[in-house]
Amino acid sequence: MAPPAAAAAASPVLLLHRAAKQLWRNRFGSSSFRGQCTASAPQPEPASKGVAAKDELSLQERRRFLREPLPFSAFLTDSFGRRHSYLRISLTEKCNLRCQYCMPEEGVKLTPKSKVLTSEEIVALAGLFVTEGVNKIRLTGGEPLIRPDVVQIVAQLRKLEKLKTIAVTTNGINLARLLPSLKEAGLNLLNVSLDTLVPAKFEFIARRRGTGPQICGITLSLSLPDFDPVTVNCVVMRGLNDNELLDFVKLTEEKPLDVRFIEYMPFDGNKWNFKKLVSYQEMLGTIKQRWPDLERLTSGASDTAKAYRVPDFQGQIGFITSMSEHFCGSCNRLRITADGNLKVCLFGNTEVSLRDLLRSGATEEDILEIIGAAVGRKKQQHAGMFNISQMKNRPMILIGG
Ligand code: SAM
Ligand code: SF4
Repeated sequence: MAPPAAAAAASPVLLLHRAAKQLWRNRFGSSSFRGQCTASAPQPEPASKGVAAKDELSLQERRRFLREPLPFSAFLTDSFGRRHSYLRISLTEKCNLRCQYCMPEEGVKLTPKSKVLTSEEIVALAGLFVTEGVNKIRLTGGEPLIRPDVVQIVAQLRKLEKLKTIAVTTNGINLARLLPSLKEAGLNLLNVSLDTLVPAKFEFIARRRGTGPQICGITLSLSLPDFDPVTVNCVVMRGLNDNELLDFVKLTEEKPLDVRFIEYMPFDGNKWNFKKLVSYQEMLGTIKQRWPDLERLTSGASDTAKAYRVPDFQGQIGFITSMSEHFCGSCNRLRITADGNLKVCLFGNTEVSLRDLLRSGATEEDILEIIGAAVGRKKQQHAGMFNISQMKNRPMILIGG
C-alpha cells in the first residue's frame, strides 16, 4: 500500500490544483478553494499576481487553465480526462456466503474491527466525494446487508443533497427482511447476485448450505415494484453455470429485470483459469442461437454493460466484459475498501489509506489533495487479462466488487 506521504508526490492534477489554489488565495484571500472550477466562479487575475512556486505549472499552463475552467473537480479528474463521479464503498469484509470466485477456500484474514471505517467515517468521506462531484454511491462488500448499521448509513447518505443514486449490491440473503427500511432510508438502486437457478449448484458455488435461488426469487419479486429495474449479477464460469445462460435470459421475458452476465475475473485465491472464462462473444453466440433477433440497446457513456433485449421481452440483459473487452477508457469509478483505502482501479494494487488521514486529523483539503494525487496516478487501462491474473491483488471480497 502506498503511504500517504508518497501519495502526495506531485501529479499533474495536484500541481494544477495547487497552482489554482494559490492563485485563488492571492486574488480572493479565501480558504474555501475546493478544486471545483465552474464557469460561474469568479476568475482569479492572470498569473502575474500569483506567486506559484517554480516547480508548479508554467505560466502558459496556468493561463490555459484559467481560461478554460474545469467543468468537474480537478481532484476527481485523472490525467486522461476521466471524471470520477461514481464511488463504490465496501461496508464490510465479512460475508454469509463463501463464493468460490470471490474468496479463497481457507477464507480471508479479516481486518480488526477497530480498523474498519465507522459509519461516521463512511459518511464523512462520502460527503467529501459528493461535494467534489460524485453523484452515485454503491454500497458493497463482503455482504453489505450484514452490517448492522447499513440502514442508518443509507439514511445519512440520503442527506447529501447532490447525491442522486444510492445503490446496493447484495447476495440477497438478508434483503427481503431489510428491503422496506432500506427503501424508506433512500436506497434507489439494487443489484442482486445470483449465479445459478439450481439449489444444489448454489451450495457448491457459495460453499454454504442454503436455498439461495429460492430466497433470491422471493426477494426479486418483492423488490421489483420498488426498483426499476432490479439488476441480477451472474458471474459465468465454464462447466459450472454456463449451461444456464438461456434460463437466465428467459427470466427477462416476464419480469422487468436486467440480467448482467459478468466475465469471470481473477483475484487472489480464486483459482482463476483462462479455461473457466466464458467470453462475451461466446455468451452472445450461445444466446443468439436461441434468439437470433436479439437486439443491441444503446448504452450511456460510462455504462459498463453492453446491453441487449430479446424483442417483446419485458427485461433486458447485459454483459460486463472486463476481461475480453475492457472499458477502462470510460471508467468513472473509485473504490473505498472496508478498511478505508482508496483504490482507483479494481485491478491496480496501489491503495491510499483515507482512514489513517481521517484519524490523524487531516483537514478536508489535505485529504482531497491525497485523493487528487491518487486519481492523477490512475493508469490508462488495466494490464490485460493475462497480466492481471499474475499480479498481486486482494481477494475480491476484501476489495468490494
Ligand atoms: N456480497 C455482495 C454480492 O455478492 O452481491 C456484494 C459483494 S460482491 C464482491 C460484488 C459483485 O462482485 C458480485 O456481483 C459478485 O458476483 C462479483 N464478483 C465477485 N468475484 C468476482 C469475480 N471473480 N469475477 C467477476 N465478478 C465477481
Ligand atoms: Fe460474499 Fe458476495 Fe463474495 Fe459471494 S460474491 S462471497 S456473496 S461477497
